[in-house]
Amino acid sequence: HPVPLTRALLSVSDKTGLVDFARALAARGVELLSTGGTAKTLREAGLSVRDVSEVTGFPEMMDGRVKTLHPKVHGGLLALRDNAEHRTAMETHGIEVIDLLVVNLYPFEATVAKGAAYDDCIENIDIGGPAMIRAASKNHAFVATVVDVEDYAAVLAELDANDGKTTLAFRQRLAQIAYARTAAYDAAVSTWMAQAIGEAAPRRRAFAGTLAQTLRYGENPHQSAAFYLDGSARPGVATARQHQGKELSYNNINDTDAAFELVAEFPTEAPACAIIKHANPCGVATGKTMLEAYTRAFDCDRTSAFGGIIALNQTLDAATAEEICKIFTEVVIAPEASDEAKAIFAAKKNLRLLTTGALPDPKAPITSFRQVAGGFLVQGKDNGAITLDDLKVVTKRAPSDQELKDLLFAWKVAKHVKSNAIIYVKDGATVGVGAGQMSRVDSTRIAARKSLDMAEVMGLAAPLTKGSVVASDAFFPFADGLITAAEAGATAIIQPGGSMRDQDVIDAANERGLAMVFTGMRHFRH
Ligand code: 5GP
Repeated sequence: HPVPLTRALLSVSDKTGLVDFARALAARGVELLSTGGTAKTLREAGLSVRDVSEVTGFPEMMDGRVKTLHPKVHGGLLALRDNAEHRTAMETHGIEVIDLLVVNLYPFEATVAKGAAYDDCIENIDIGGPAMIRAASKNHAFVATVVDVEDYAAVLAELDANDGKTTLAFRQRLAQIAYARTAAYDAAVSTWMAQAIGEAAPRRRAFAGTLAQTLRYGENPHQSAAFYLDGSARPGVATARQHQGKELSYNNINDTDAAFELVAEFPTEAPACAIIKHANPCGVATGKTMLEAYTRAFDCDRTSAFGGIIALNQTLDAATAEEICKIFTEVVIAPEASDEAKAIFAAKKNLRLLTTGALPDPKAPITSFRQVAGGFLVQGKDNGAITLDDLKVVTKRAPSDQELKDLLFAWKVAKHVKSNAIIYVKDGATVGVGAGQMSRVDSTRIAARKSLDMAEVMGLAAPLTKGSVVASDAFFPFADGLITAAEAGATAIIQPGGSMRDQDVIDAANERGLAMVFTGMRHFRH
């Protein structure tokens, strides 16, 4: 099945690498056909090209909406070369074969990403390009289709290895890539349209991604895995620059994302640090310096922080880098890292350092989805946020200013902890985190217990939960959770409220002199 390459049609929006590639094709005796802008670029580089409009006998028209949509083009892409009837049709209508199609599409995704107006986005929906890509790919028995600049080199290598021909296996691989591209393209159009017309739950939803990396394995070594980009270019683990260390694993990527999304909740005026284990924080803190923020996050649960993933909301500086190096850490992610910090990390070969240039916007409208048997659950990301004005004081005692500050801090952290989530906070740092338990009272107990353990490790007279505040991601169904928190030394509580037994819980708080506020908002995370 090797097919000689006699004629190529090139029609590309992204002209990167075009001239070199076309020149290499021409040098191998391939005739070049091209659309307006592409032909112009090639001619200016001194290459000889035939215009598609000359082949079709029609000018490009309607602002380029109609350029290649013609039987002379599509017949040349779709004709089965070994089929007598197809050959007769080609001869009768003067259709010439096209053996190689090189197309990259109008930059629809980039146009949306830069916030272009509706009509501009519409004009950037490529029609002829996808039509040709789908036609050529269907006919991969004879035609090779290239949709990515990065595949140009592979085409030339294929021709060199096969005496100027392409093999079937190669064309099949290219067709698979090509259909993924047109699927992703239409998925991007559909996703944009859903947003543009305010469809919360469109009847059909298309998902797409571009392979960034095949991973060695998934959550466990016997699971295969890969990492895909969604095209949003959101600052984060998917688009970060890795300065050193081994390749990220599936679990690393998942935990790094959890860590960075959490610190992104904190405004950059004050340094903030989160340490993550198994997608849950084992310490989150703010500080006057990044070193202080890291140290206080670490002090929440020094035992669990070992082998953790650290995210910072500001530049990683030398002092913090040095402190981080004292224990084993898998990944550090930050908007930037100073040169001294990088030099300090260089001695730790296995530590991965990622920088992103910026923090993600915690309010960005992201779609999250989860697979269930036979379907997907789709929801908007939990962008819920509250301010002081949203809080309703339900106890006799109102929280003090310091308690209020800590309650809001704890509430932000609670959103990023698996339910049932209980977070003890003191002076802008977590001092106990209870995550992922099946009963709320257990999360309350576990967090307090950990704090007791830490007091012992650090040689403190009393656990840091003494004089702390507590956030609960959902209401207390019974008073027992609140009583446990009070016994651990908590003085104020933030929770959504809304339980049948709210009054029991409020009574228990009043009996113990606790201040409690209701948010009216829940932060389940499963
Ligand atoms: P050029 O820069 O060569 O003028 O245009 C290249 C772009 O036009 C490519 O992105 C290609 O996918 C697109 N294209 C080719 N044929 C058609 C067509 O018939 N209609 C539309 N809308 N786009 C086309």
